[in-house]
Amino acid sequence: MDYVTLNTGAKMPILGFGVYQIPPAATEQAVSEAIAAGYRHIDTAQYYRNEAGVGRAVKASGLPRKEFFITTKVGTSGYRETKRQIDTALRNLQTDYIDLMLVHWVMSDYQGTYQALEEAYKEGKLHAIGLSNFNQRQIQGILERFDTVPAVLQNEMHIFHQQREMRAFTKEKRIQFESWAPFGEGARDIFNHPVISQIGAKYGKTAAQTILRFIIQEGVVAIPKSIRKERMAENFDIFDFELSSVDMTALRNLNEDRGLFGWNN
Ligand code: NAD
Repeated sequence: MDYVTLNTGAKMPILGFGVYQIPPAATEQAVSEAIAAGYRHIDTAQYYRNEAGVGRAVKASGLPRKEFFITTKVGTSGYRETKRQIDTALRNLQTDYIDLMLVHWVMSDYQGTYQALEEAYKEGKLHAIGLSNFNQRQIQGILERFDTVPAVLQNEMHIFHQQREMRAFTKEKRIQFESWAPFGEGARDIFNHPVISQIGAKYGKTAAQTILRFIIQEGVVAIPKSIRKERMAENFDIFDFELSSVDMTALRNLNEDRGLFGWNN
């Protein structure tokens, strides 16, 4: 496993397991299988309603809590409600700290929400805090108002939407960029894309492995999701090869700055 170092000094595994759209009743099993496949970084959210399944799987693994990096996200219900939601997340996840909590999106009182996160960060309940689905102007607003620079920005990023401008911006601000939907949610037949598949074949790797390797070689954290054991293992098996600079350029050239939903952050 490779790691990135956050602006807090903490190490974050560059590859994690995302649990969006995994039904609450199926989450414990899926996360247990992901842990068995080697994943130690799990990405959930209160909105997914499956934090408790993540917590049970981590407990059931018998591994020390410090071996895991757990991210969750809260909506934007403002300062008071967020403080309650942080405690709910700690209970759901059966832990006394969360490695990273993100403001999930920009709606209603996202500044009040960030204020509650910052307070919990200073209290040690959250080891890092960050943002998701924010644009540059909104991030700038957070930087101007608060002492704590977000550690992470989790936005959509994949081969067809490479986010170069935003990644340059976050790098300058010492915010780690993290990709959600590293496969673009499987849309546009990405797993059969001829350029991606041909590059992967040179290394004996699948399109999925090539995509993930590209993302992590760009210095971006990736959190692919699959509920199938063999795909969890496939997606984890990306640390024994390196894409050449020629292949990285060919993959960079597939960028279309086209997100899944038409927005651009
Ligand atoms: P993804 O890009 O990870 O794609 C998932 C799809 O790819 C699934 O249909 C899966 O079956 C398929 N797949 C996975 N591995 C495969 C393989 N090796 N071969 C073939 N098919 C494969 O999409 P996602 O789940 O939306 O995103 C990943 C994670 O990002 C989520 O689980 C969640 O944790 C996070 N996320 C965050 C936000 C946000 O607003 N912050 C939004 C979307 C997703």
